[in-house]
Amino acid sequence: MSPELEHPQKAIGWAARVPCGVLSPFKFSGRATGDKDVKLKVLYCGICHTDIHNIRNDWGVTTFPVVPGHEIVGEVIEVGSGTEKTKVGDRVGMGCLIGSCGTCHSCLHHEENYCPDMVLTYGGRPYYDGSTTYGGYSDIMVVEERFTVLIPDSLPLAGAAPLLCAGITVYSPLRFHGLDKPGVHVGLVGLGGLGHVAVKFAKAMGARVTVISSSPEKREEALTRLGADSFLVSTDMSQIQAATGTLDGIIDTVSAVHSLLPLISLLKTRGKIIVVGAPDKPLQLPMLPMIFGAKGIYGSCVGGMKETQEMMDFAAKHNITTDIELVPMDYVNTALDRLAKGDVKYRFVIDVGNTL
Ligand SMILES: [Zn+2]
Ligand SMILES: [Zn+2]
Repeated sequence: MSPELEHPQKAIGWAARVPCGVLSPFKFSGRATGDKDVKLKVLYCGICHTDIHNIRNDWGVTTFPVVPGHEIVGEVIEVGSGTEKTKVGDRVGMGCLIGSCGTCHSCLHHEENYCPDMVLTYGGRPYYDGSTTYGGYSDIMVVEERFTVLIPDSLPLAGAAPLLCAGITVYSPLRFHGLDKPGVHVGLVGLGGLGHVAVKFAKAMGARVTVISSSPEKREEALTRLGADSFLVSTDMSQIQAATGTLDGIIDTVSAVHSLLPLISLLKTRGKIIVVGAPDKPLQLPMLPMIFGAKGIYGSCVGGMKETQEMMDFAAKHNITTDIELVPMDYVNTALDRLAKGDVKYRFVIDVGNTL
């Protein structure tokens, strides 16, 4: 018997068997619902750019077969006897992580996302019982309750799914770095899956928002439909110079290699750039303008579970979802190809519940 079939909870998903392989149906199994676990029927799962990196084994850590997916919403169909907040029938979401040690400095400060023993929803180290973790391109998932968030009734589920990764990725640094209030001026670099939802969050928090993009044709979309206050073309030096020293902080969502110098010049003294995109080669960091402006550059990676729940509740209060293209499960390979070319506005979400 193959190791995938040894556990009691049978499931079906779509997996890549080899790096760069196309995804196809795959039977596997996971643990039974434990005391502190909930079992959910997956309804929707967003397609994150990270899924492509994992399928291609770009970071050299992927275990195959890999079932991707970490922007998951579903309906609870079973709860363990020791669960605290969840009932059968609840709408819950889960994001990039499904386990953490619970005792380290990060875990004790509600930052499970920085726990050195964190377990990713799929594609990382095995779960604590040694089993492989499989993501949300699958019909059934069993997960520890503390790694789920409740999704308020008012939020449409499909558009809420990408908030579990794309949404919290931008929400957390806006909050942590104080870029979340009236009177601050935030720059958002890149208007893709992360950037478009960053505009919505930053505007709802009351900040003034400038979108910075290499694509001049995105101006209308940024200003008119998403409600940004201004728009800069990152390669137009006259526009950049005219805006020198105007921004309190910048969230940089671009995952292609790009120049930081124009962005640094846009910051006020003591301004910050928070990088959440992951270029596959190092970026050059010019130190003189950093030193002379007392400027900082930071990273940030998703958010802890408490903050992820806060983000979801804030999204419900302000009616924020991601803009999506809903696709059936058997469209996933085409969707991944299109995503790799940037051909989506702004996030593919798989209709897992109806089409798997
Ligand atoms: Zn992601
Ligand atoms: Zn920990």
